[in-house]
Amino acid sequence: MRWSKTLLETLKETPAEAEIVSHQLMVRAGLIRKLAAGLYNYLPLGFRVIRKIEQIVREEMDAAGAVEVQMPILSPAELWQETGRWSKYGAELFRVKDRHERDFALGPTHEEIITDMVRKSVRSYRQLPINLYQMHTKFRDEIRPRFGVMRAREFIMKDAYSFDRDDKGAEDAYKKMFETYQSIFKRCGLRFKAVEADSGAIGGSFSSEFMVLADTGEEAIASCTKCSYAANVEKAQGRIASPNIQEAPQEKKLVATPGKHTVEEVAEFLQVPITRLAKTMLYFADGKLYAVVIRGDREVNEIKLKNAIAATELVLANPEQIKQATGAPVGFAGPFDLKGIEKVLLDDSLEGAVNLVSGGNQADTHATGVNLGRDFTPTEVCDLRVAQAGDLCPSCGEPLTIERGIEVGHVFKLGLKYSQAMKATFLDEAGKEQYCVMGCYGIGVSRIAAAAIEQNHDEFGICWPLPLAPYQVVLLPVAPKDPKAREMAEAVYAELQAAGVEALLDDRDERAGIKFKDADLIGIPLRLTFGKSVAENKIELKRRDQKEAELVPRLGIVARIKMLCADMLSAGA
Ligand code: ATP
Ligand code: MG
Repeated sequence: MRWSKTLLETLKETPAEAEIVSHQLMVRAGLIRKLAAGLYNYLPLGFRVIRKIEQIVREEMDAAGAVEVQMPILSPAELWQETGRWSKYGAELFRVKDRHERDFALGPTHEEIITDMVRKSVRSYRQLPINLYQMHTKFRDEIRPRFGVMRAREFIMKDAYSFDRDDKGAEDAYKKMFETYQSIFKRCGLRFKAVEADSGAIGGSFSSEFMVLADTGEEAIASCTKCSYAANVEKAQGRIASPNIQEAPQEKKLVATPGKHTVEEVAEFLQVPITRLAKTMLYFADGKLYAVVIRGDREVNEIKLKNAIAATELVLANPEQIKQATGAPVGFAGPFDLKGIEKVLLDDSLEGAVNLVSGGNQADTHATGVNLGRDFTPTEVCDLRVAQAGDLCPSCGEPLTIERGIEVGHVFKLGLKYSQAMKATFLDEAGKEQYCVMGCYGIGVSRIAAAAIEQNHDEFGICWPLPLAPYQVVLLPVAPKDPKAREMAEAVYAELQAAGVEALLDDRDERAGIKFKDADLIGIPLRLTFGKSVAENKIELKRRDQKEAELVPRLGIVARIKMLCADMLSAGA
């Protein structure tokens, strides 16, 4: 491709709203342009990257025996009502009406549609197992679209769905996809980690996420410093490292703590360690009130809480609800004498703790000497806290660390959730009707482009891993007064193309300095510069990921480039 013939405009200025480097560079390097919040045009260079990612994903999915299909983006509300997700999905689901006032959704994911498709065509065990996938546009009305294509409202996803005869088959399908994802992300040249995850709104029994490691990632990952345990913090179970103090139980007393609201203020005022505090939080979930009692230094993990009480909607209780349950204003709740509470859940950070300090259920009052079993009895004791660095690994007991990641893929064991709700059945060998056992597997194709830039850039621009690069080589004729430089660049460009190398020729009448800057910005892995040395039949060759350039002979340049490309491809694999 000639630079002058493609729509490739680089920008010097960083767009003000671009908070992270991949978003800044994708705009500056002319890969994307914003249309509206969370909606982007892919310009030619950006679209080539998307195509590269899609191709890798497609090849690996096909190799794993999955079969490509395509489903409509627009899907009738009736299918979503069958599984209850029309109401459960909430505001993230884009909803539209047709001219007859019939409701439709713009697909954010396609479990209902594929299950409908399969129940209509699969009759017998002989048609199973099957794994169907598509590469298509998804719509989600994200509460906070941001970071460019990383969290967009319209994006490209590869979604696959497996249907098996039994649990064993479903497990094999899951394992196969898990391995396939590892090959895909390796081939994309990404540094990633597979972690245990919460199953979230899609539901199901077990899931893993594939995280690209980057400081700007929205996800926190807890990993063991010794064994292979790694989990999304939403799910991670860190065992408490510092035990609670053991002593003889004291009497419960109310003490005045005027104006002391936060755990830190109370701990300091009463001269007790913060770990002695039993923080009592009230939540409102699906029409009922719940109390959570947790050690003062820890935070409630609302996802764990939601799972523990099987809630759909969960919010902190409002001041009025708190007043009704505790008799006190916000900030003075204690775990005893609560009214109208469905359950009192105790985080196991406080299991066995004695002489706790909690709110006194009166304004400006706290209680000391609060004891489990005597002053309050929890309905349940479980892990409800956010895991922290230094917590102990649930597998081996060594400390956990926390790192950040970008979720690029997600594999779920769904079980019978959708096939039961939508009656997707088959006749087994005995002629008996059975439910299909399902799995689903997503990859954020457009998000991968951004994640790759987060991992591969420097102060001058993008450094594409070769497998994702929009072009493999950029050719810069930089001696405009010397026709030989341009002629040689044209000739090498033609030879490279004939040899199947993806080349971009910077044929603009720009100064050398601008061409160099732009080449660094767009991050093509190999650069050929045609300058003064063409007089000696030499070309300057530079790798984007290395500092030094070398002069190479014109003769054999194509073979040299092809060899380098092959090396760089296999380095990613
Ligand atoms: P997140 O936690 O980031 O919102 P999710 O759990 O909602 O992701 P899935 O429903 O598992 O995501 O979707 C599969 C994949 O699609 C994700 O792993 C991610 O790579 C990608 N993805 C999800 N939401 C977006 C989005 N708004 N923009 C771009 N890619 C997305
Ligand atoms: Mg999401």
